[in-house]
Amino acid sequence: MRLSRYFLPTLKDNPAEAQIASHRLMLRAGLIRQEAAGIYAWLPLGLRVLENIERIVREEMDRAGALEILMPTLQLADLWRESGRYDAYGPEMLRIRDRHERELLYGPTNEEMVTEIVRAGVASWRDLPRNLYQIQWKFRDEQRPRFGVMRGREFLMKDGYSFDLDEAGARRSYQRMFVAYLRTFARMGIRAIPMRAETGPIGGDLSHEFIVLADTGESDVYCNRRVLDLPIPAANVDYDGDLESIIRDWTSLYAATSDVHDAARFDAEVPEADRLRTRGIEVGQIFYFGTKYSDPMRAVVTMPDGSARKLHGGSYGIGVSRLVGAIIEASHDEGGIVWPDAVAPFDVGVVDAKSGDEATASACTHIVARLEAKGFSVLHDDTDVRAGAKFANMDLIGLPWQVVVGPRGLAAGTVELKRRASGERIELTPDAAIARLVETRMVRKPA
Ligand code: ATP
Ligand code: MG
Repeated sequence: MRLSRYFLPTLKDNPAEAQIASHRLMLRAGLIRQEAAGIYAWLPLGLRVLENIERIVREEMDRAGALEILMPTLQLADLWRESGRYDAYGPEMLRIRDRHERELLYGPTNEEMVTEIVRAGVASWRDLPRNLYQIQWKFRDEQRPRFGVMRGREFLMKDGYSFDLDEAGARRSYQRMFVAYLRTFARMGIRAIPMRAETGPIGGDLSHEFIVLADTGESDVYCNRRVLDLPIPAANVDYDGDLESIIRDWTSLYAATSDVHDAARFDAEVPEADRLRTRGIEVGQIFYFGTKYSDPMRAVVTMPDGSARKLHGGSYGIGVSRLVGAIIEASHDEGGIVWPDAVAPFDVGVVDAKSGDEATASACTHIVARLEAKGFSVLHDDTDVRAGAKFANMDLIGLPWQVVVGPRGLAAGTVELKRRASGERIELTPDAAIARLVETRMVRKPA
């Protein structure tokens, strides 16, 4: 992609309204544009990141046996009256009327709708268990939308829902999602710690929030710092097998959000040197809620003996758009964003350090073509600005690798390869630079 033909409205100065680094950097790097309080348009560079995050979420959900669906954003109020939540939900819910005066709402979550779908689509015990998920926009009229996409009003969520015959089955479904979440966040280059959590308006009796530690996070959390070193389950984890031991490893060390924190237990269980009291960003939450929805909504299946059995449910959220901010909070420096390889909007930035120079221009074009042929996504800065500004811009947008092509190097047969995260630069021939990138291949998608 040529930058001269791209849409990348970057800002030189820090926008006054942005209080935290990720919000500042997302505006400055031209990832998003605010359209109303807590409502954002995703620009080309930001959308690429969002889509990379979505892709990882899908791959890990599918691997764990969940099935993707897509439910509408608008829901009938009457559906929510079945569960009793229409009146209970409060002012965060955006309530709408259509031309026939029918009451609708813009979904803040989808337990009722998915229960309705499953109620209609499963009949017998043979049809369970099932886990259905979607990646869909939500609306919550937050009292204080802030920190950009971290606490938006309209935001993108992965919401998944499991249905089982009994509590034991539902707990296994919960464990599958627990493990899938560990893998999902690790693949994005961040560490999200599962912490015991309150169940809130979703209801139920078992819940974990997945928390990225960050001073700018809105949650107060308490954990044993050894939880930071636990190994992430491998890609070949057997989701049909016994996940107990993984769950035990991750839940036996103290980790709790402030809502369920027990100071006496924390002090008793965790050696003083390992006590971590800090703040974090909630990037996901999982719940087991039993028959909370199947009860009032009469979602049942027929058992082998002909009796009716209520479904046991769980729900599993990931803040897809919030993750873009959370990843930046966890990975940036004075120069700008430092994208983890797996979510970066482009793998490589190729910088023509001397605009107007035919030799550097054609060398860049050639290098870009060869990188693209090897499956790398490349942003080629062919614009007509001075080199210093191009370098600052590349650092700001945070692509993992930069290839800088200047006239002096080119005369000597070399280009400069820079790793954004470490700042390390080496001079080498274009061939060697491409070979090096292939070697350290972080290419996510086969070409
Ligand atoms: P919070 O406590 O931050 O308000 P929540 O517990 O109400 O979030 P859930 O119902 O658990 O949110 O939703 C699942 C996920 O959706 C959350 O873990 C979070 O990552 C994301 N999310 C929730 N509210 C917002 C929001 N206003 N803006 C962006 N992402 C959000
Ligand atoms: Mg939550």
